[in-house]
Order: sequence, then structure tokens, then C-alpha cells
Amino acid sequence: MKSAIKKYIPYALGKKLRGSWQIAQSTFYVGNKYYCPFCKSKHRKLLPGGFDHPVIKEKKIIGAGRRNNCICPRCYSTDRDRLIYIYLTHFTNISTEHSKMLHVAPSGSLKALLSTMPNLEYQEGIKHHEGFYYSKDISIIDIRKLDIEDNTFNIIFCNHVLEHIPEDMQAMKELYRVLKPGGWALLQVPISRVLKETYEDFSVTGEKEREEHFGQFDHVRIYGSDYPKRLEAAGFTVEQINPSIGWEIPDIEKYAINTEETLYIAHKK
Ligand SMILES: [Zn+2]
Repeated sequence: MKSAIKKYIPYALGKKLRGSWQIAQSTFYVGNKYYCPFCKSKHRKLLPGGFDHPVIKEKKIIGAGRRNNCICPRCYSTDRDRLIYIYLTHFTNISTEHSKMLHVAPSGSLKALLSTMPNLEYQEGIKHHEGFYYSKDISIIDIRKLDIEDNTFNIIFCNHVLEHIPEDMQAMKELYRVLKPGGWALLQVPISRVLKETYEDFSVTGEKEREEHFGQFDHVRIYGSDYPKRLEAAGFTVEQINPSIGWEIPDIEKYAINTEETLYIAHKK
């Protein structure tokens, strides 16, 4: 059975049987090669992740293409979630300092970690999409126009969201507005290693065409190496952190992170 199909079986099973499926899958993949810090499981192999569209390879889009050993069979954390986990636990004091945090379109693993930290006033929000299932406790928000006061949050996470929004500058300015001075935002996007300038074309609207142009049916652009400049135009000061440079974490290869993925930490001075 194809792994991609296996990945979607739990959703078809419903909530009750999903846990049993994940345990069975985790048992099947049990081993010592990889370690997931979210669910503390050890596996010999992880599930593949990402899409396989030709434009992703052609434009060398980091964080989008097909990757083996990407998704934890037990809790479905991704290579990006585990990269962020290492960053948070080794290089920030997010688990001890009292902070107000906004998490936009949270991934399940990071939400489970952050929403239970007693020092964090955690707020999450997501954009409404027809046909999607939302948990009852999540707010539907529009990051182009947030109903939130200026200077509210110390920390914002908004990962793999901006590439879906035509008015990304408006969204970046809104995130900047609601961030407190001295605060920081983690703003990951899929990014091309070969494009110097971001490629966008709003006349491309069909799902198939967007897949061909941008690598995913609901993306409206591919960011290029000017991405930090776009964030700076919204007011941020951007820090870029590449895990392949200077991170001395013991057994880092066990976490199966994508070492090509740079972290974009946007500060409000
Ligand atoms: Zn896991």
C-alpha cells in the first residue's frame, strides 16, 4: 500500500479508531534510527511527506518537495515541526518566560506542545476553508485584518500560510502591528533556492494551473531570496537561522529535520 494512502487512512477511520491505527503503524515502524521529541517514539523509518510536482524540483523549493523520512508514524509531526522543536528547546526560553502567543494555522504537534505550556497565554486561529474540519476551540481569523489590538503578542507563529494569501504584504503588516515591540515571529514559507525574486501571477487561478506554476493547488506564489526583504518592508528585522550551520545538538540526525530549511525569525524592535 502506498504510504500517502496510509497517511490518510486514520482520517477516514474517525477519531475513535485513529489512535489504534497510529499505535499499530508506530509498532510496524519501531526501531532505533529516528526519534520524535513530540511523542517520544523511536522508529526505524518515518513516513514520506511533501508533493512531487515538477515545478518544486525545477525551482528547488525548500520545504515543499517529496521527502523520505519526514512524518512521524505515531504523532504525524513533520521534519519542520521537529526543526522548530529543536530551535525552541535549545535557543529560546519559550517554556519558562511568560508570553502571549498567537499561533496561526497550527500544526497538531506544535499546538499540543505550546498550548499546554503553563507560562504561555496561547491563542490559535485559522482561515476558514470550505469543506475543512475545524476543532471547536479554534477561532476563524483573517490575518489580513485581525480584530486584535496593536502590540498584543510577544510571540507569533505563522508557518506556511503567507504563500496562500494574495495580499501577503497586508498580512505581514497586520502580524507586525499585533506583535509587541521586542517580540518575535516565526514566519516559515516554502522558498525557492534559485529564484532571486518572488514569482507571483494572480491571473493563475485554477487548481491544476496553480499546481503547475506554484507547486500546490492553493498557493498563489513561490517566494524567492527576496523573502526577508518583503518582511522588512512590513517593518520587521529579519534573523535567518540555518540549522546546518553551527548547531551542535547531539544526535541531531535522529530528529530527521530538513537541514536545508532556514528559519525566518522576524523581530519587532
Ligand atoms: Zn511523533
